This record gives sequence, C-alpha cells and structure tokens, in this order.
Amino acid sequence: MSFIIAVDGPSGTGKGTITKLVAEKFDFQYLDTGAMYRCVTLKMINEKVSLENEEKIEEILKNIKIDLNGDKIYLDDTDVSKRIREEDVTNLVSQVSHIPIVRTSMVELQRRISEGKKVILDGRDIGTNVFPNAEVKIYLDASSEERAKRRFKQNKEKGIDIPFEEVKKNIEFRDNNDKNSKVGALKKAEDAIYIDTTNLSIKQVERKVIKIIKKKQKLIKTIDNAYVMTKDTPLKKFTHSFIKGFLGLLYRIVYRPKIVGEENFPKDEGFIICSKHINYLDAAGIILLNKKNIRFIAKADLYRFGILSFLGHLFNIIPVKRGKSDINSIKLCLKALKNKETLGIFPEGTRKGLEKHMKVKNGAVFLAEKAKVKIVPVGIQGSFKPFTRITFNYGKPINVHDFNNGDEDWLDKASEKVMNDIIMLTKEKV
Ligand code: C5P
Repeated sequence: MSFIIAVDGPSGTGKGTITKLVAEKFDFQYLDTGAMYRCVTLKMINEKVSLENEEKIEEILKNIKIDLNGDKIYLDDTDVSKRIREEDVTNLVSQVSHIPIVRTSMVELQRRISEGKKVILDGRDIGTNVFPNAEVKIYLDASSEERAKRRFKQNKEKGIDIPFEEVKKNIEFRDNNDKNSKVGALKKAEDAIYIDTTNLSIKQVERKVIKIIKKKQKLIKTIDNAYVMTKDTPLKKFTHSFIKGFLGLLYRIVYRPKIVGEENFPKDEGFIICSKHINYLDAAGIILLNKKNIRFIAKADLYRFGILSFLGHLFNIIPVKRGKSDINSIKLCLKALKNKETLGIFPEGTRKGLEKHMKVKNGAVFLAEKAKVKIVPVGIQGSFKPFTRITFNYGKPINVHDFNNGDEDWLDKASEKVMNDIIMLTKEKV
C-alpha cells in the first residue's frame, strides 16, 4: 500500500539525516530529491551545457540515468555520491533545479519511483507539488546561521573543504533562489507540520517526526476500520433503538417536526434520499424521524472523533474519503442499495455547498443509475432555531435513468434536476 511522507525545508535543516533515520525505522524507501537535481547539474557541468541551452538540457534529461541506492548516488552508472556535494555543483544546483523542463522531468521521475510504495522524500516542493496528497507532510526549518554551521561541519566530515562564510553565503543565496522560484518554489504546504530545529538535536527532531508518523498511521487505521461495518448484534440493535428513540424524542421536543410526503418512498426497493445540507441537524432529522433505518454517507474523517465514530458505527454511516474516488465507499453503497436499504446523500457534497458556489456532485445520480434505484428529493423548511417548526417535505421519486441519453453531461443534468427539486420542495407551501 502506498504511503508518502514529504519532508520539505531549506538546506541544512537536517532533512537528509532525519529522513534517512526515519526511513530505516519504518522500513520506507528514501528518496533524496536534491541529489537528483544535483546529478542533472553535474551532468550539465561535465558536458559544459549552459543554463540557457534548452535544447541540450532536454537531450540530457532524455538520456540521463540516475540511480539512488541508500547513500550511494550513481549518475550514468558512475558513483557520484561525493562529487555532487562539491562546490561547483552546490553553487549551480538551485538555478538548474528551477529550469521548468528540469523540474517537470524530475517531478515525473520522483512520482514514478514512488508509485504504490512506502516512500519518504526530502526536498523543497514535495508536499506542495510532487505529492500534494501525501499522507504526512513535514516542514523543517532553522535559522540560516545554525544551518550554515551544520553544513560546514557535515562538509568537514565528508572531507569537503569550503570556508564557513562561503557556506553561509551559499545557503542564503540558495534560500533566496528556492523561495522565489517560479516553478517548484520552497514553501510550506498549508497542511504540513512545521518544526523549527534551530535548538533541537537530531534525536529530538527524529522523535517528533516519528510521533507524527505513528499518529497518522493510527488515524489511517481508525478510518480504515470505519469501512468494516460492525455486526448487527442484539446489543447493537438494542442500543440503536434506544439512542434513536431518545434522540428522536429530543428532536421532536426541540423542533416540533412535520413530515410531508413519506408516501413517496418507493416500496420494497432500495432508494436514495437527497437533501440540502445546511447543518448536521438535517441528516439527524432524516435519520431520527424515519421509521426506516436510513444510512447516510459522510466524510471518513468523522470517524476520527470518539463519539462520532460510535454513532457512525451504530447508524452504519458509510464513510467516504474526500478528494479522490473512493472505491470502497462506492462498493458499500451499492451493496446497501442492493439489499433494499435507503441511503442519504447530500449532493452539495459539503455544508452550504450551493452558497459556496460549488458544483452539485454527481455521486448520488451515479449510484442510483448503477444500482437501478430512484432518488427521493427532500426540501427542509425552517431555520433550526430551537422551538420553531422544521418541515421535511419529501418529493416524488426521480428515475435518473430517464436522463441517461448517453451524452457526456447527462450525470450533471440529472444532478441539477435533483437539486432543483430539492430547492422547489424547500420553498413549496405545505
Ligand atoms: O537538498 P539539497 O541541498 O541537496 O538540494 C539541492 C538543491 O536542489 C536545492 O537548493 C534546491 O535548489 C534544489 N531542490 C529543489 N527541489 C527539490 C530538492 C532540491 O529545487 N525537491
């Protein structure tokens, strides 16, 4: 199973050292993306290719052979592990790495090497550009003085002799270049965890990073568990009826709900209820006030939180991962519809999606067509202010198959029809 850890940050923050240690600890492949840019730079130096000579650079990129094997870096089958750290390469690499064709080619290579694997990559744009969906993103930082000290010491250990002032100047020059580049700029991804390593030892940073990864692994496991529906044991059935009855009573007291059009529910077959999503009380109302057990589809992240996870399992809520097509979720939905169950879906995808000008999602129509079931739209009338009335106005079932004329946009058109019916039912006088 693929698991990507992106470690970004400027040079001298300990990225390489930490990344290697962590890779070993978790048995991940380690990819030093800086070394890849250094190899391209070295090849350009060897072949005396200038930064402007796009044609030659393109040729180099076509034929270059880079092999990364732990600490050993091979360029066209020659061990260049030490050579690529030398001054001439270091001084030029930042400019080479920001040539658009170089960036495109290396990013593609990084994605290809990592595909389907457990990999930890260190670089500048891993979390923002190469793997924006990485499972873990870490941004390491430190003051430029501290980073220069570290690099100077590292160079000495490797037998590379560059004066401290020179190292510092180079670090600051590269920082500036890396941060202000038009392509692949060094930037903290919004969802990356920031660690300032200035006053931390390698061990301390390593511990922090390990903790972050373990936490994420645990979270992924919890969310994966959400896809395994708990068995309908007598205890679960009892707890379900008790909690549904109790919360339903509370709901009735606070909102004096009125239900209209329940006779529109298809009999003895699975179907999907679609509603607008204003707040969590709309789903709660549809679930708690119906005799039928209605299963909603909700973002998988919900299962992160103890009480919501408990309720999710109790009401057999189907999790869905955002931002990717979630095959496991689709399978659970189709299975439920085949079993003649009723699903609840918000076509807006998120709360107040229409107000946020988001496109109506096609998921409900897609599932309805696949499972050959109908969609029942519902308009919810009321403000959800306590002790005011909420009305659930169920409309006539929509047979989405009638819209399937083979056109590319039929799903969009059917989804629009569902949304329009919902809006109409929200305004209809009942
Ligand atoms: O990490 P290292 O210092 O070896 O990287 C060398 C240079 O390669 C960086 O200064 C940066 O300009 C470039 N680089 C990059 N994107 C990456 C990795 C490195 O632009 N993902």
